[in-house]
Amino acid sequence: MPEKMLAAMKLRKAVGAEMAEIPLPRPKADEVLLKIKACSICGTDKHIYNWDNWAQNRIKPPLVFGHECCGEVMEVGPAVKSIKVGDYITAETHIPCLHCFQCRTGNMHLCQNLSILGVDVDGIFAEYAVVPEVCCWKNDTALPVEIACIQEPFGNAVYTVMESNVGAKKVAVIGDGPTGAFACGVARAVGAVKIYNLGMIPFNLEICRKMGADVSVNVVEEKNYREKILDETNGGVDVVMDMAGNKNAVSDGFAILRRTGTFTAFGIAPAPFEFDMAQNIVFKGARVIGINGRKMFDTWYQLRNLLDSGKVDIRPVISHKFPFTDFLKAFETAISTTTPSAKVVLTM
Ligand SMILES: [Zn+2]
Ligand SMILES: [Zn+2]
Repeated sequence: MPEKMLAAMKLRKAVGAEMAEIPLPRPKADEVLLKIKACSICGTDKHIYNWDNWAQNRIKPPLVFGHECCGEVMEVGPAVKSIKVGDYITAETHIPCLHCFQCRTGNMHLCQNLSILGVDVDGIFAEYAVVPEVCCWKNDTALPVEIACIQEPFGNAVYTVMESNVGAKKVAVIGDGPTGAFACGVARAVGAVKIYNLGMIPFNLEICRKMGADVSVNVVEEKNYREKILDETNGGVDVVMDMAGNKNAVSDGFAILRRTGTFTAFGIAPAPFEFDMAQNIVFKGARVIGINGRKMFDTWYQLRNLLDSGKVDIRPVISHKFPFTDFLKAFETAISTTTPSAKVVLTM
């Protein structure tokens, strides 16, 4: 094993990131050392790179950031029981304490003492990374690395859709980013009968269509789309899944939700905003569900079934691939406001 490795790091409390050579991490008793095979860029990583309010309050440089990855196990700590050297792993990125109320009652993804890979502890934008045994998901060796590394964000969409009970229902997916596109694919696979997709970028709306959206709505260009959807659905869709998370998205979502419909919230607004609870929830008899992370590990078994059966093909969501050594170039692509992108994947 080499002594040093290349890592993409947040070294300073400022916008940007840097490539650095640092010592390999050592696995603790309950951790495994992964040789990273592929990784992908998430919205969270963009917040960290852009050093926005959230990042300033949460991130403590120096930090190896990044959390979406797959890799091969090179070494296991002495207390590790279920994982062995050579296993092909994707990391679940929510690290639970295993002792709190949530951890002990089947909700460890919402642990009270949760830490997140690449946010609170060193992550995976590196040649090697350590991951706790509890966060290891074993892949079939035949799974391509670029698919294996995006299972974590795919899992967000799987969890969102499965909690929303979309079978035989008319649904709306708000947002045309990767999780919106994944959600369209899952909703299609598990039996939604009509999928409206609201977004802002033609390139991304097209990917969502490929994934399974029936009707694309460009909210920047189209007018009266709320009325049109309400009209077509006789009073609103049964389920809204908000994968965008901003004031307009939430407002659109509740406007097109039928009375007694379900609103599932995954997107995270950049700042608090005013919201009419009485009109949107109380008088509507709406049901609201919050989604954070992936159900450990129900979601992972479901996503494996969806991929293995071929019911969902997530390849259209990968818009760019780069070698890891071009990390900074890949990141510029991911955050570009002129070149559209969906999932940007890096391979080693
Ligand atoms: Zn992520
Ligand atoms: Zn816990």
